[in-house]
Amino acid sequence: MSNVLNWQLGREMDYPYDAAYPDQQFAFIFNINRCIGCQSCTMACKSTWTFSKGQEYMWWNNVETKPYGGYPHHWDVKTLDLLEQANPGGQNWGGVAKDLKAPYGQFNGKTVFEAAKSFIGPEGANRALGYLPTDEEWSAPNRYEDHPVGNEKGVKGQYFKGGELLPEHKTWFFYLARICNHCSYPACLAACPRNAIYKRPEDGIVLIDQERCRGYRKCMEACPYKKTFYRGTTRTSEKCIACFPRVEGKDQAGGGLPMQTRCMAACIGHIRLQGLVQLNKDGTWKEDRYNPLYYLIHVAKVALPLYPQFGTEPNGYYIPPRWVPRPYLKQMFGPGVDAAIDKYSAPDRELLAVLQLFGKDQRICFRYEIKEGPKVFETEVRGKKFAMFNDTIIGYAKDGTKIIETTVEEPLHVRPEKHANSI
Ligand code: SF4
Ligand code: SF4
Repeated sequence: MSNVLNWQLGREMDYPYDAAYPDQQFAFIFNINRCIGCQSCTMACKSTWTFSKGQEYMWWNNVETKPYGGYPHHWDVKTLDLLEQANPGGQNWGGVAKDLKAPYGQFNGKTVFEAAKSFIGPEGANRALGYLPTDEEWSAPNRYEDHPVGNEKGVKGQYFKGGELLPEHKTWFFYLARICNHCSYPACLAACPRNAIYKRPEDGIVLIDQERCRGYRKCMEACPYKKTFYRGTTRTSEKCIACFPRVEGKDQAGGGLPMQTRCMAACIGHIRLQGLVQLNKDGTWKEDRYNPLYYLIHVAKVALPLYPQFGTEPNGYYIPPRWVPRPYLKQMFGPGVDAAIDKYSAPDRELLAVLQLFGKDQRICFRYEIKEGPKVFETEVRGKKFAMFNDTIIGYAKDGTKIIETTVEEPLHVRPEKHANSI
C-alpha cells in the first residue's frame, strides 16, 4: 500500500499503487435540481455504445430515483453497510474546511481501501472492500422510479398540505444520474489482478483493456459505484469510456474541438456540464479561476463529490437537491451540503451567469467571461436579499473559439400570428 493525498478527504490515505496523476482530468457536474428523469442521457449512451448482444443489462449511464432506486439495486446502501461494519460508528467527518487540500474538512473514517484490511475472505484480503451484486440486483435498471418517501400520510382526494415547503419537503425523492466517475484512485483499477484497467495520462479517463481482461469481475466487486459491467458473450468486463473520441476532438461534429460526452450533450434538462481540468503535481486542481468546473467546485463550492468517503476521489460532482432532508444529503455528498444549498438557493451574480453554461453547446467550455447587464429583478430568498442582473456569459473552447453567448434572462420567442398553433 502507498500513501496518497486524497484532497476530497482532506488527508492522505492508503492506496495499492503509488500516486500518478494525469496533466488534465475528465470531470463533470450534474445539477440534480434540474433533472427531470427523462432518461435521454441513458438512451444516448445505450444507442451509442451498448446496443449489442450481451450488453442488454449494461447501463453505463443510468438515472435512479433516490432514496429507493439504484442500479444495481441497493448499491450504495450495501457499500455503506460494509464500511459501517468495518468501522462501527467511525465513519465521520471532522476538522474545518480550508484550502484546495481540504475543502470539506477531514474524513476520519475508513475508505474502501483502508477498510478492506479488516475483511479477510477465502482468497485473502481484497484490495478494496466491496461485494458482487446478484443477477437479481442487476435485473431491473429503473426499479422504484418516481417512488417518494415521507412520514406523513395523505388524505384521499386531497392534495398533501405543506409537502412543498422548503427547506425540506415532507415527501420527497430525486433523480440521481450516474456514470463512471473516472476516479483519481479507481477501485476497479486497484482490484484488477490482470492489470487490465488503466487511467489515461492525457485526460484521466479510466478504461478496461479488452485484450487483457479475463472477466474475473474483481473490478465489479471493488467499484463502490458499481460502474463496471460483465458481458457474458465476450466474457470480459466493460465500462463507460467517457466517449473518449469526442473528448479527443475526433467527432466531426466538433470541427476538431474537444466535445462533451453523448450523455452530456443529449441532456434535455441542461443539468450537465463536462470539462477537462488541469492538475498540480500532487493531484490537487490547478487554479483556473474562469474554468466553469473550477469555479463551481472550488470557488462557489456548490458542486460536491458523490460519496467522497468511499475514497476513490470521484471526478463526478453534484449540485445537491434543495428539498431533500440534509442528513441524507450529507451522507451522500459530505459536509459541504449546507453551504452549497445556501449558495445555490440565492446565487450571486457570477454563479447565476455560470449556471447558464449548462447544456448550451456540445463542445467543451474551457473558459468563461461575463459582461455585466442591467438589474431586472429583486426579491428576498429565505431572509436573504436576491437581485438578478441580465448579464451575458460567453464560453470559449480549448483554442479560444467563442462557443457560447447567452444571457441570464432567457430570450422569449413569441410565435407570430401567421404561424399560430392550429392543434
Ligand atoms: S466509478 Fe468505479 S468503474 Fe469508474 S473509475 Fe471509479 S472505481 Fe472505476
Ligand atoms: S437527460 Fe438530463 S434531465 Fe433527462 S434524465 Fe438524463 S440527466 Fe436527467
